[in-house]
Amino acid sequence: MVQPSEAPPGATPPGGSEPPSAEPPSGAPAGSTPPSADLGQRLLELAGELVNIPSVSGSEADIASFAESILCSRNNLEVVRLGDNVLARTKGARTARILLAGHLDTVPPPSGPAATGSGARIEGGVLEGLGAVDMKGGVAVLLELTKEAAAAEVEVTVLLYACEEVGRARSGLLALARERPDLLACDAAVLAEPTAGVVEAGCQGTLRLQVTLAGKRAHTARPWMGTNALHRLAGVLGVLDTYAARTASLDGCEFVESLQAVGARSGIAGNVVPDLVELDINYRFAPDRTAEDAIAHVRETLESGGFGGDPGDRLVVVDVAEGALPSFGSPLLASLATATGRPPKAKVGWTDVAFFAGRGTPAVNFGPGDPSLCHSPGEHVSAGELADVYTVLQGVIGVNRGTPPLRHG
Ligand SMILES: [Zn+2]
Repeated sequence: MVQPSEAPPGATPPGGSEPPSAEPPSGAPAGSTPPSADLGQRLLELAGELVNIPSVSGSEADIASFAESILCSRNNLEVVRLGDNVLARTKGARTARILLAGHLDTVPPPSGPAATGSGARIEGGVLEGLGAVDMKGGVAVLLELTKEAAAAEVEVTVLLYACEEVGRARSGLLALARERPDLLACDAAVLAEPTAGVVEAGCQGTLRLQVTLAGKRAHTARPWMGTNALHRLAGVLGVLDTYAARTASLDGCEFVESLQAVGARSGIAGNVVPDLVELDINYRFAPDRTAEDAIAHVRETLESGGFGGDPGDRLVVVDVAEGALPSFGSPLLASLATATGRPPKAKVGWTDVAFFAGRGTPAVNFGPGDPSLCHSPGEHVSAGELADVYTVLQGVIGVNRGTPPLRHG
């Protein structure tokens, strides 16, 4: 356990210094400080400190130490560090446990003309910088919320993990599941990934396939002696181009599927009829399909474009991850959805919600910031967005319940 005195140089002592006096957000009448201004400013400052600790995937040691030092300063929390994953939890006897999670890593900083420096810039109640949205704003909310965990009506686990932005095999969640699965036990999980303060329920599955279309090699001067595999691709691409994607409506959330060709290779020489095409395909499928259903559906679709017409045709699954159904049967997640005051939406990408769903734990994404800014050079999050999400989560864990969430722009 790292003691607070070991926080990285330049870091605010955890739970320590008072935030600077909050300026009214731009647009607010002068002299009328909204009640959330102090909270929003405090969250913005903390998120800024997190942004100022570089934490590209695989280099999360410093930010994990910073988070750990904050968590260790809270009362009545058990703090566990496993590699660069840090977890804090209450250890009372309340009947339900909610797990609130966020990843500590970011993608690498932008280079070239888009590079504007990755450090934190705070102006007019808005924080800009690498990871401001994805997802140091969310991590700041979770760290701050641990102040309230001891007074919550439910048991609370806050989990901050490493290596979300890279290959699945390196995920801090998988390391925790292998080494300390007991720490992941909970009745519901919330991933504070940016969702613009709306509950994003479930997630789509993803399937990557490599399809091989076979032919027969011949001299281009005598093409009738062979079968051009590349020409056969036209039928398959035609089917993909006109594919009518299904929309699955599940628990009021619309999951729009998509099927796309994402790469192709063929050709031997300028005077040879090619006998092989390799086509890469990505299918994003609604969570009411299993992996087997998804594979069967793509195979059937491709067959309508001529796939399977040659005994040499092959379909190989490169990678498949099932999605997760919305889980509003969970009272905790239902109360979260209600507390936001906005209807939940489907998550179109694949997220770690599926990791929890795969363990039988209902989970959703819910966090501050515009998700369309993720991994973009202009990432920014506002004090109001942070305060809104904080207030909703505060109500869900049973602190300050009944205070209506502030509606930020
Ligand atoms: Zn993220």
